[in-house]
Amino acid sequence: MLKTLRNAFKTGDATVKYPFAPLETVPDFRGKPEHDLERCIACAACAVACPPNAIQMATDLKAGTITWSIDYGRCIFCGRCEEACPVEAIRLGDEFELAVMSKADLTEDATYTLERCSECGRYFAPRKQVDYACRVLATLEGNTEADESIEVARVCPECKRRADAVSALAAARAEGGR
Ligand code: SF4
Ligand code: SF4
Repeated sequence: MLKTLRNAFKTGDATVKYPFAPLETVPDFRGKPEHDLERCIACAACAVACPPNAIQMATDLKAGTITWSIDYGRCIFCGRCEEACPVEAIRLGDEFELAVMSKADLTEDATYTLERCSECGRYFAPRKQVDYACRVLATLEGNTEADESIEVARVCPECKRRADAVSALAAARAEGGR
């Protein structure tokens, strides 16, 4: 008995005072994913990486928008979204008390504008994502054709494919004519 008491005093408190006192979290604690809607470029990398589809993207071609949304009720706090985000727009924070009265309060969303293709005029990608790609291309070391590649970044994949096919055909004809 004495030995048990001695060990208990030596060990100190084995429990915490939560919920009567705030719970201290450890570094790298995986709490509620916090989305920075200003920083986000709507690239969908987090939605692709999210195992339970807690993050989803919905495109509205009529309105020319793309909506990023998260359902915290589905989140398993795995941190894949944080790993996948190229611009650090989502990170798991310290918050873990997510109880709400209504299921709708477990969701958040942000809507972004789509960019039109500079050739055909059709919506093809989130504008912020295209702008981000252009910024990266402009600052890429050794990119001697930055202006040209920025121009190409504003063209949809279909128009790019068509342009590639046309130039390949022209090259083949020129080769055949020699
Ligand atoms: S932490 Fe995991 S489950 Fe939650 S939103 Fe991010 S990727 Fe999805
Ligand atoms: S990966 Fe980052 S930038 Fe891309 S949609 Fe998710 S939060 Fe936004």
